[in-house]
Amino acid sequence: MQATATTSEQTDTWTRTCQDCGVRVTYAEGFDIPDDAPAGWTEDGGAWTCLSCQRHEARFGGDPAARDERIDGELRRGTGLHEIVRATGANQRQIRARRVALAKSGELAPHAHA
Ligand SMILES: [Zn+2]
Repeated sequence: MQATATTSEQTDTWTRTCQDCGVRVTYAEGFDIPDDAPAGWTEDGGAWTCLSCQRHEARFGGDPAARDERIDGELRRGTGLHEIVRATGANQRQIRARRVALAKSGELAPHAHA
């Protein structure tokens, strides 16, 4: 969802960027700006974490190896990229990196679609 400013008087926008995945939420001034954060986001010392990354954190305990293992399993099953994003909370770049690693080790066809 994206809010776009339509008035010229108020140009200030409110932006939060997730420290983990880099997703950015921007609200134009005059739109429905939340008090301090997008729904579900948390702030820690000025660093913001989106809901998706928090869910991922909760699911894998912040353990990258556990996440990678799950991603590998999904890739071997031929799960689509977007499905894996939803299932693991990993971003597409992380998943592609796992796919390349699996292809290199011969576990996955290099041109497998996902
Ligand atoms: Zn995030």
